[in-house]
Amino acid sequence: MVVCCRVWVPMNVLVLAALVILLLGAGWAGVLIARFRDRRHQVIAGLLLVVALTHLASLLRVGDAWGVDVSIQLDDLPTIGAALAVLFTILLIQHVVMRDESQRAEFIADKAYLTELFENSPEAIVLLDNESRVLRVNAPFTDLFGFSASEITGKVIDELVCDPECREEAYALTQRIAKGEKISLETVRCRRDGTHVDVAITGVPVPYGAGQVAVFGIYRDVTQRNRTERVLRRLQKAVETTQLGVTVTNLDGEIVFVNPAEAEMHGWIPDELIGKDVRVFAAESHAMPMTPDQLKAVTSWNRETVNVRRDGSVFPVQLMSDVVRDPEGSIIGIVTTCEDITRRKEAESALRGSEERYALAARGANDGLWDWEVQQRKAYYSNRWKSILGYEEIEVEGTIDWWFEHIHPEDRDRVQAELDLHLEGQSEHFESEHRMQHRDGTYRWVLVRGLAVRDAHGEPYRMAGSLTDISARKRVEETLARDALYDVLTGLPNRGFLSSLLERAARRVRRRKDYQFAVLFLDVDRFKVVNDSLGHETGDQLLVGIAQRLERCLRPGDVVARLAGDEFCILVDGIGEIGDAIRVAERVHDELKTPFVLNSHRVFATVSIGIATSESGEAAEHLLRDADTAMYRAKARGRARCEVFDRAMHARAMRLLEMESDLRTALEAGQFRLAYLPVVSLESRQITGFEALARWEHPGRGIVSPAEFVPVAEETGVIIPFGRWALREACTQMGRWMERFPDRRDLTISVNMSARQLQQADLVDDIRQVLADTGIAPQQLKLEVTETVLMNDPDFSTGVVQRLSEMGIQVQIDDFGTGYSSLSYLSRLRIDTLKIDRSFVSSLGEHGERAVIVEAIIRLARDLGIHVIAEGVETAEQLESLRGLVCEHGQGFLFSRPVTGDAAGDLLGAQTG
Ligand code: C2E
Ligand code: CA
Ligand code: CA
Repeated sequence: MVVCCRVWVPMNVLVLAALVILLLGAGWAGVLIARFRDRRHQVIAGLLLVVALTHLASLLRVGDAWGVDVSIQLDDLPTIGAALAVLFTILLIQHVVMRDESQRAEFIADKAYLTELFENSPEAIVLLDNESRVLRVNAPFTDLFGFSASEITGKVIDELVCDPECREEAYALTQRIAKGEKISLETVRCRRDGTHVDVAITGVPVPYGAGQVAVFGIYRDVTQRNRTERVLRRLQKAVETTQLGVTVTNLDGEIVFVNPAEAEMHGWIPDELIGKDVRVFAAESHAMPMTPDQLKAVTSWNRETVNVRRDGSVFPVQLMSDVVRDPEGSIIGIVTTCEDITRRKEAESALRGSEERYALAARGANDGLWDWEVQQRKAYYSNRWKSILGYEEIEVEGTIDWWFEHIHPEDRDRVQAELDLHLEGQSEHFESEHRMQHRDGTYRWVLVRGLAVRDAHGEPYRMAGSLTDISARKRVEETLARDALYDVLTGLPNRGFLSSLLERAARRVRRRKDYQFAVLFLDVDRFKVVNDSLGHETGDQLLVGIAQRLERCLRPGDVVARLAGDEFCILVDGIGEIGDAIRVAERVHDELKTPFVLNSHRVFATVSIGIATSESGEAAEHLLRDADTAMYRAKARGRARCEVFDRAMHARAMRLLEMESDLRTALEAGQFRLAYLPVVSLESRQITGFEALARWEHPGRGIVSPAEFVPVAEETGVIIPFGRWALREACTQMGRWMERFPDRRDLTISVNMSARQLQQADLVDDIRQVLADTGIAPQQLKLEVTETVLMNDPDFSTGVVQRLSEMGIQVQIDDFGTGYSSLSYLSRLRIDTLKIDRSFVSSLGEHGERAVIVEAIIRLARDLGIHVIAEGVETAEQLESLRGLVCEHGQGFLFSRPVTGDAAGDLLGAQTG
């Protein structure tokens, strides 16, 4: 298809128009091209323009004459397309390039703006690359952290402003931002000088370049804000927890804030009160709000008034109000604290009450009064208070210090401590006894009582009380205290006092390596005998005499104490070795060598001494026990001796203890037997009776002698059931002999009695029962007691002996001659028989004092109508001597050893037969 058009156009017009178009086209393209910044773009666009123009020009064919023939044929289409494409390309290039250009201009404008922002921002800002390296920081940043920009640029930020332990975490955060996250956090960073700063950080990703992302970090210093917040929080906590009520009101009197204490005090919940008129708290009669004019005139005001609770009840309060102003100084509200002063009011009225009571009591009891304002240290002292100390009214300073200055220096600290205790609320009353200086310079004992009055917080603000002169009472007490520490008879320290001295010495041992002490336990030998025979009064005189002599044996620092009865103790202070203690003991023995003259009697006294030393490491009270054990050993070894405590002794003491429990089981298990020792007529050598002697068939130890177990049985009380058994057993045996020898109605059985048995209230009834059960006549039973047993309590013994002899039972004195009893006394006791102790009998045949005594005893006894039995006759010589002295009866190995009941029967049989 040929599209053909032929237009006739006058030549000159066409040429002109074509030129104009070309010029305009070229001009327009030129302008466009000129705007290209890039020279390559200009060249390309220029060439394209030329190509496009050439193409279009090729379409112009000059026709006839001045006509221009424009014909577009099919084969012209590529040319037209190419020209259009070229023009389009130019347009496209122009569009793209121009947009680029305008963006660039915008970017430059933005950048300037951002730089402005960056540099002038009050916040510290840092720009980082996605490896956390610093690209740029602003001045606030360098100010905040103390690094210069050059110091920090290119470095990893986290290594500069983070503590080592949180660097990794910070780096991870930067990475997250670099990946496109936006992060805000509050944390702590450190400055160049190592100090820390609380910061709020905002991190935003900033894309730049090809897919690159930078991190834009904004740091705000929140240290001050945090500190303020903490203070505020604390303040709020304080307001919420204080026991004081706090209310804030606006100028209209509406409550805008109230703390829990205030609400609770008035029976409300805080939220319920917001917006209410503050007069909700005021009791009607006390509601007196301030006028704005009055408010202007004041800044703060206090008052005591009465408030009302939600339930209508009222209570006294102390209110303190302060005006709150805005920064310009105009009043915006009132803050009021409210304190419930019910307790203080009660205390005050109690004080008034007690003051009245005190005043009354003081008039009656002659007490001085004092009243002290604690904070001010001012004190009021009544006239009586002053006169107790000998002062006139004006001479006493009205301060508490005056009082303390006049307290005895030794008492001052204690009084202060007692007072502090009360002021701190740890003692209900203040009560103190101390010495105060009288005007005459002497010290008087006073009793001070007082009571502190406290505010709602328990702080004492006032204290009042009385002062009493107790000097007279103290004097009595001191005497009593002396008696409590000292033995009244001898004036020596008593057991209690000694214990405290021992404790003190024991403490010193613990403190000082080189210090040791010894305890001497002294027991007067045979003191009982003196006491019993010469009377208690003489006994007392002897103790006083001994005490005086013991004191002479002491070295400086040593103490002698009386423990009880005839027991003394010497504390030997600071010994170097055991010899020091033994030397003291020797001095004691020496000192006692000269006899005492008491009521014209010459009395020899010896002591047995046991020694224990602190070297054993025992506690103080154990030392005394050990010394006691050693003393027993000394006694057992023959009086007037001294023994040092050792382990073996302890073991012996332990054995004694064991024996006690063994004794009880022995009785139940039937381990006791009786052996029978014949009593013989020295004249005819016929057996007139037997003495029953106990034997213990111990399963482990064999036969145990009564000399060993009877004392233990006596000490432990086992002797009572044991004695009952022995009596019944002996009478039963007697019954058997009677069956065998019914004619021997003259035969007697002697049973040994210990002191404790004699004291038994039902002894007589017991005996009567045994006699009835065994069919033995009372005349056949003889009871043997030692003279000391009888002398223990002569009146009591007389009664018992009398009742027994009324029954027909004879009482014999055993071991006669070892005690101090007098024969005439024994005859008065209606004693029938005495047995001369073996120690005298064994001395017969010698020409000594003892033999003379035996003679005298036998002769005297005969004169008084008392029968005599000689004990322990071992030799024919002794027998002859006794017969010469007309001693009727005897016992002893010369006649027979103690034998079993059956063997004794055989002895009888042999005689009768
Ligand atoms: P005692 O009453 O003086 O008893 C006499 C002691 O002298 C007995 O010792 C006896 O065996 C011993 N004896 C007798 N003749 C001679 C002699 O010729 N030469 C020697 N060397 N000794 C002789 P025994 O049996 O060991 O009794 C000791 C003490 O035990 C008794 O002394 C008595 O006081 C007490 N006793 C014994 N049995 C009982 C008892 O059943 N009850 C009580 N309370 N005490 C008892
Ligand atoms: Ca006897
Ligand atoms: Ca005897």
